[in-house]
Amino acid sequence: MRSVFTKLLMVSLIAVIGINLLVFALFRAQRQSSINAFQTTMARYLTFLIEDFGTPPDLLKARETVKEAFIQVRYTGTDASWVTDEIPSPSKRLRWSTWKDHPHIRSALWKSRFLIEIEKEQGIFLFALGNSFDQENENRRLLVPLLLILTSLILLIYLSIRWILKPIKWLNQGVSEITLGNLKHQVPAGNSAEFKELAKGFNEMTRRIREMLYSKERLLVDVSHELRSPLTRIRVALEFLPESHARVSIRTDVEEMEKMIAEILEAAKLQHRYGRQNHQEINLKEYIKEIIPTYKGQNPGIVFHEPETPVLCRIDPDQIKTVFHNILNNAVKYTGVSSEPIHISVMNEKSHVIVEIEDQGIGIPEEELPFVFEPFYRVDKSRSKETGGYGLGLSICKSIMEAHGGRIEIQSSMGKGVKAILVFPNLPALE
Ligand code: ADP
Repeated sequence: MRSVFTKLLMVSLIAVIGINLLVFALFRAQRQSSINAFQTTMARYLTFLIEDFGTPPDLLKARETVKEAFIQVRYTGTDASWVTDEIPSPSKRLRWSTWKDHPHIRSALWKSRFLIEIEKEQGIFLFALGNSFDQENENRRLLVPLLLILTSLILLIYLSIRWILKPIKWLNQGVSEITLGNLKHQVPAGNSAEFKELAKGFNEMTRRIREMLYSKERLLVDVSHELRSPLTRIRVALEFLPESHARVSIRTDVEEMEKMIAEILEAAKLQHRYGRQNHQEINLKEYIKEIIPTYKGQNPGIVFHEPETPVLCRIDPDQIKTVFHNILNNAVKYTGVSSEPIHISVMNEKSHVIVEIEDQGIGIPEEELPFVFEPFYRVDKSRSKETGGYGLGLSICKSIMEAHGGRIEIQSSMGKGVKAILVFPNLPALE
């Protein structure tokens, strides 16, 4: 109901119903007054005709009178009966309707003729006229096409507005794509000047964000690269220093920096898909079963809810192993020894496969969730001192999942544990 297009549809439907009801009501009101006028005039005219037929009514006179009016008459009296032309006998089963203000007159439709029957003292007169005299039918013949034309007109207006507003849909899609991290998404320009401007602005905005992010990453990668040589030189120089507490401490720091740089460069490599992916058809059920023993003996332990059937995915097994290890390492790191075990489950949906890894650890505050995939982002800076992370694990996971055409989501709240959701496109979707 919140969609502009649904609202538009509702307004159009209400307009169709409202306008049609109004036209119908106007037609009915107008019909009644025109029928009354028609019946009074017709009753008078036919009474004149009957008077012209003479007393008793004479066939020859009647023929003479109605000759030019394209009317046929049947007279059924007590003393005589005649008919000017072919016309049904009153016994024929017809749907007669008696005239409201003239109870001795009734009318009906017969073949393509309009019949009017008048009862007089001298007998019954039946007149056959052209069916265009049937007012009710005439009205109906006009009303139905009119209602149809009005309905199609409003439908046409609805479709045109929908077409004009189509760029809203494109922009909406664009915003969702950007939210999902696809900064390369471009919005089509459309036809209207205002939307063209908006689309242009939107595309320009994403281009600049892309550039900003790219230069930020580039700087990080370049600085990391450059740091490798001085670090190596420090390492070598350290070897010439006498053994001391300071030397050990500097060596630990240098090693940590080297590890960090290696991770940064690895993350950058994945981000830009420098590393070639080696996709293979893998049964996730067996694949996960092989990963779990690595965590044997590590608390709080892992429970794998195995799917009943094999779950096939096309993945790079080495890269996806990194994803599983990063998530499981976090789950182990941030979960107390005595807490509930980590649960892994696999769901095979229509167009994708979902793997959920859920722990009952300390969790991540909800307001921090949007940032956990950013490189070097750590929820609690003091946490990593004990746990030894650089805040790169999840950002690497995200790059790998996106390079696979999938995605990763993290659901959590403080103290309630973390649920990592991995979404892989399944095989038919990839082919
Ligand atoms: P790190 O190497 O620091 O673990 P990650 O990118 O893997 O970096 O994670 C980013 C931050 O998210 C971590 O510093 C941690 O604070 C938080 N985090 C990740 N996984 C969990 C988890 N399972 N439970 C609690 N906090 C988590």
